Amino acid sequence: MKIALVSEHASPLAALGGVDAGGQNVHVAALACALARLGHTVTVYTRRDDDALPERVVAAPGVEVVHITAGPPVPISKDDLVPLLPELAAGIAADWRTDPPDLVHGHFWMSGVACLAAVQVLADSGAGRIPVVQTFHALGTVKRRHQGSDDTSPPERQALEPWVGQSVDAVIATCSDEVLELRALGVDPRIVSVVPCGVDLGLFRPDGPREEDKPRNRTRVAVVGRLVPRKGVDLVIAAVALLRNAGRDDLDLIIVGGGRSQEEMGLDPDGLRLKRTAADHGVAAQVILRGQVAQAQLPALLRSVSVVVCAPWYEPFGITPLEAMACGVPVVVAAVGGLTDSVVDGVTGIHVPPRDPAAIAMALGHLLDHPDEAARLGRAGHARVQSRYSWDLIAAATVEVYRSVLTMAEPKAVTSAGVAAAFAGQPAHVVAAGRGEH
Ligand code: UDP
Repeated sequence: MKIALVSEHASPLAALGGVDAGGQNVHVAALACALARLGHTVTVYTRRDDDALPERVVAAPGVEVVHITAGPPVPISKDDLVPLLPELAAGIAADWRTDPPDLVHGHFWMSGVACLAAVQVLADSGAGRIPVVQTFHALGTVKRRHQGSDDTSPPERQALEPWVGQSVDAVIATCSDEVLELRALGVDPRIVSVVPCGVDLGLFRPDGPREEDKPRNRTRVAVVGRLVPRKGVDLVIAAVALLRNAGRDDLDLIIVGGGRSQEEMGLDPDGLRLKRTAADHGVAAQVILRGQVAQAQLPALLRSVSVVVCAPWYEPFGITPLEAMACGVPVVVAAVGGLTDSVVDGVTGIHVPPRDPAAIAMALGHLLDHPDEAARLGRAGHARVQSRYSWDLIAAATVEVYRSVLTMAEPKAVTSAGVAAAFAGQPAHVVAAGRGEH
């Protein structure tokens, strides 16, 4: 199969940990490579955010990354990309003119818009319509529910995200919770499949080197990921303070992530916010902000900690607990979204209610006081990711979805008028009127 992946803001080649660079980048990179290992040819389209990037990069055997010029070739927040989508779509369609893919798979709602538009350009020129598969990674309705007026998503998202879900040929949800959310957006449940994210089991494994800079008599726990407020890192800091107040002062919290690495010196605004939080709780000396760490260095770090905590307000999937589990490290996770699928409470980790530092402190304290139980959860977590979450399994399940749309009698119709209305940021009912019958 010749597969196009579109990931407008999240390049598979980007450094990870900043505001807009995390799980989606990992997902697209790993899925592309795993699809290529299955014998498919994969082209990943992403927006050029640096003048120096070559137009085409062979990222792995069978995987090419194409940088499409859309707007100035500089980093732009994903919240400001909507006006650039027509140019992105035109660039993708131009690349397809001589050699179109068998199907295109959009990642994030804006890529979905670009996919539908690029497909329409080709259909209007007389070529057939290429089927579109969509993974949202995150949904605006969920984000708004949790972030309220702090949600910086562009206003167009409200109309265009449902439009994408209703117009594509198949939607891949990354967790069961997302299926209900998609239904509420008017997405036909018959086109939705659940395929989770995976984990790189070659890299993240229990055996291998450990970081050696752990001071004697200190216990380390870690949080890994983007440091944006909704990831709840401040809740973990508060939990460390509660444990310290209860007499547990041997604990160090390692925080990995952020827009800059330690070598680049200085913390980004999220890092500075967390540093202030630690000082406010009187645990500045116990909270170590490591900045952005390359994935290749993460397994050694994870193996050197006793527990990994993941306490987001909400989480469409959450790859970092899987990475910890793959290293045999027990996890404490907020019982939200994808985490309730991937972590089995009491078996491969401990669930805590969201936004509850006292519950995090209790779960952490319990695991640290019961090392045998912690080791059992770590082993079970490792077994679970091995049996269910390798990228080879995830890619095979994704290919099943691809085959289902390729065998459909006819891909859905989206009209040029629908795409034009979408680009004009029209309200949902106007966009819906531009959707073809299906
Ligand atoms: N990550 C990394 N270095 C960092 C911070 C994060 O390699 O400094 C990686 C992490 O290992 C994981 C991904 O970024 O693979 C974050 O994915 P997750 O699904 O947990 O969160 P998202 O970014 O999608 O919200």
